[in-house]
Order: sequence, then structure tokens, then C-alpha cells
Amino acid sequence: MPRQFFVGGNFKMNPVSRGQKESIISVLNSADLDSTTEIVIAPPSLYLIPLKDTVRSELQVSAQNCYYKDSGAFTGEISPAQLVDANIPYVILGHSERRTLFHETSEFVAQKTKAALNATLKVILCVGETLPERETGQTAAVVQKQLQAVVDVLQESDWSGVVIAYEPVWAIGTGKVATSAQAQEAHLDIRAFLSHAVSPAVAENTRIIYGGSVTAANCKELSTQLDVDGFLVGGASLKPEFVNIINARR
Ligand code: PEP
Repeated sequence: MPRQFFVGGNFKMNPVSRGQKESIISVLNSADLDSTTEIVIAPPSLYLIPLKDTVRSELQVSAQNCYYKDSGAFTGEISPAQLVDANIPYVILGHSERRTLFHETSEFVAQKTKAALNATLKVILCVGETLPERETGQTAAVVQKQLQAVVDVLQESDWSGVVIAYEPVWAIGTGKVATSAQAQEAHLDIRAFLSHAVSPAVAENTRIIYGGSVTAANCKELSTQLDVDGFLVGGASLKPEFVNIINARR
């Protein structure tokens, strides 16, 4: 079965006002969206429930992070069980901003991935290399190490709830998008890794989406690559051009 094209919008710590949030949603709610694309938007947790209740039914909602415990004395955290209870189907884990600014290790990301999947959430798992790592030829090794930590704690069946987002750190929020050849090469490497580290079936069925300065202008070419199954979009997900990215395969 072909992998369903997937487009996620990571709003990060935006928008700063309810008015801005409403205008983003009204664009999405009235747009002509490709019905074959799975669409997920990830607002700040403050907006998860109101957004879920106001967006059209084709749009799913995702948290941007969660902890691995169900409840307890973990000030500032949100749990997989709470997200499930609020009918939030997805969570983003391992975003480079979490890994870099909040010092999340691959093992911690793996622990959270396992907890989220156990709670029945689906996970958008982010991996990617820095510029010095790419320039010194370490891209595949770095990404495999990030993935290996997750492979170590998941069962084969868990992977049906995972979408992998390949997000080179040097491309996130910089305007420097990976070329379609760079994206395809990294995605193919990830698929090959999954094939030997987990199973050929998981490699074939897992969606691997690209993130890093995706815009309306560059999404079409990227979307033609065989192993690019969609996008995780930051900045452009707050703009009307997000609609063009959702419709990239049209
Ligand atoms: C992201 O935050 O996941 C991202 C890809 O950001 P941007 O599209 O702004 O580079």
C-alpha cells in the first residue's frame, strides 16, 4: 500500500495572540485541501483543545512535546495520558529545539516515544544533523544514533504509530532548505537503517517526512522524491502558503 502523504504544521511558540490564531485557522478551514494528504497541526499546548474543537474534521491536532509519566509532581509538563484524555492524537518528540535548547538526549526522547505510543498517541519523531556534522560526513551516523535509541526501546509493532521527520538542524528556520537530492539521500538512508534495525516491512510502511525551511516555492520538487512522504513545516505553517504545501502533490 502506498504511504499516505503527511503534512504537519509546527506552530512552535506562536501565535502570540488569539486573533492571530483565529486567522490561521480561518484560512485552513476555508481552503481547498488535498483530501489524500494527512494533515496535522501542532499549536502550543494552551491552544490544543480549543483548536481541536474549531478546525475542520480533516485536520488533526498534535502536541509539540510531552513527558513520559502519566501524572505527578512534574511542574510544567504534560503527560501522554492527559493528551489521550483530551482526544489529541499526535505528539511531536525530539524536535531539534528540544534537543538543543532543552538538552534532551536521544535516550530521553526514546523513553518519551515509548510512553507516548504505549498511551496510544502517534508520534512525529524528529531527527537530524547539525551543519558541522553534515560537513564532516556524519549525517547518516548521527541520524542512525538518534534512531537507534528509539529502536532499542520499541517493539516492531510500535512503529505503526511513528512518523519520522528528518529535519537537518541547519535547515530549520534558516531559509536554507535541503536540496531534493540531499533530502532523498537522507530519507533513503533512514529507510535502509529501519530495514536492518527493525524490519523490511517497517522500513516500507513508515512515513519519513522532511522538515527545514519548506515553503510553497520549494515543496513541489521535494515532494516528487521517492522517499519523501511529506513535510513538517515550521514558519510557513503560520502563513496562507501552508495550504500550497498541503497540496504539494496535486
Ligand atoms: C520545524 O520547526 O520543524 C521546522 C521545520 O521549521 P521551519 O519550517 O521554519 O524551518
